[in-house]
Amino acid sequence: MAFNVEVPDLSQERVGNVGLPGVWHFDSGKPGPSVLITALVHGNELCGAWALKELLAHGVDVQNGKLTLMFCNLAAFDTFDISKHDASRFVDIDFNRVWTEARLGNTSLVETQRAAALRPWVEQADYLLDIHSMHEPAPPVLVVGTLPRNIELGVEAGIAEYVIVDPGHPDGVRMRDFAQFGEPSGDARALLIECGYHGDLSSIDIARFAVQRILALSGIMDTDRLPAQWLEQQRQPVAQPTVLTVTEPVVAASMDFTFTEPWQGMEMIKQQGTVIGHNNGQPVTTPYDNCTLVMPSLRQLIPGVTVVRLARTELAQND
Ligand SMILES: [Zn+2]
Repeated sequence: MAFNVEVPDLSQERVGNVGLPGVWHFDSGKPGPSVLITALVHGNELCGAWALKELLAHGVDVQNGKLTLMFCNLAAFDTFDISKHDASRFVDIDFNRVWTEARLGNTSLVETQRAAALRPWVEQADYLLDIHSMHEPAPPVLVVGTLPRNIELGVEAGIAEYVIVDPGHPDGVRMRDFAQFGEPSGDARALLIECGYHGDLSSIDIARFAVQRILALSGIMDTDRLPAQWLEQQRQPVAQPTVLTVTEPVVAASMDFTFTEPWQGMEMIKQQGTVIGHNNGQPVTTPYDNCTLVMPSLRQLIPGVTVVRLARTELAQND
């Protein structure tokens, strides 16, 4: 699979303006929400870094509220090698699985240290847009967690054709589910966008569009303040995204996991009981009709990792 996204030079961006590498904060001085946009939560996911780099280069002109831009896992990014890009996802532990008190208190790992340093900037936000890309070529998906306010925002944002309602992963808590973002009674909102394959140039377009939408929906910056080249495509929000609810993850029991077909993602398997893979010698079957495969991949295979998630449409859930 060709990797067509160039590695961005982040020598200027990593300086930051709050005394922390890669963190930029802008305050309009006027009332309004505090919006946080994050890139490089995974060191090999470059599209968000490109979008934030372009926005910073253009000049950030916040009209209401506050905006924080964060290049998260710079240590992992610094190990990026295009010939083995999967290896730079993280250094010690997945940065997007460390958002619990216990893990944030661990000072011995690169990612837990970094997450603890970034924590105040995460906790001050009313909106989070967390920009990611995917191991395999597949349509972009917006990952919204399980809270109704985030599902609503994801549908309204129309950034991607698919909105994935999911409880996260068994091996740790994501930034998008941390603190105020996971609080059932609160009003802080978080979206995670998976912009397509890591090396696909279109992932940068989706990242730009996601930034544009969160700035517009939060009301802190008008579209005309964005880089001109972002607006040339005149991309329109998806009018009615398909909402898919993840019912279960498939977690690798050992290194002995195979798929029966080279699944790319978003395939809908018609028949309940279809064998889609083998997990440590046991067949993995679809638990219901019209089961959608969300982000199947064996590229980060280790025991305990989620290799695919199974989802059903809202409609199917009602029957
Ligand atoms: Zn990611």
